[in-house]
Amino acid sequence: MGNFRYRLAQFMMGRNGFDNFCQGLILLAVVFILADLFVPGRILGTLTLIIFIYVYFRAFSRNIARRRAENEWYVTYIALPLRSFAARDRKHYRYFKCPGCGQLLRAPKGRGKIRVTCSRCHNVFEKKV
Ligand SMILES: [Zn+2]
Repeated sequence: MGNFRYRLAQFMMGRNGFDNFCQGLILLAVVFILADLFVPGRILGTLTLIIFIYVYFRAFSRNIARRRAENEWYVTYIALPLRSFAARDRKHYRYFKCPGCGQLLRAPKGRGKIRVTCSRCHNVFEKKV
């Protein structure tokens, strides 16, 4: 076992490894695998396979600079927004969609009925928050 781990470490030297982006993709694949039980057809199974191929491609990639840039993009635009949306933000903000264009909007909670102007289509409507 020790020998195997040593050889694995040798193999992974100079390669990107499993970063945040890989972990996020694996999580997405697990969601797809579970959803695949309820969704007919092969689309989710195929997507899962593509995700796993991409995860291993990234983990074994020697182009570390490029993979690191992708990981930073993932953390900035996906992981952090998702995390703040899931945990902290929800206590203080109410999220809702603009009835005009479907844009996701947010407003501080507990202010009663407020007038909202959509940031995308400038539709004005009233919303209880
Ligand atoms: Zn709108």
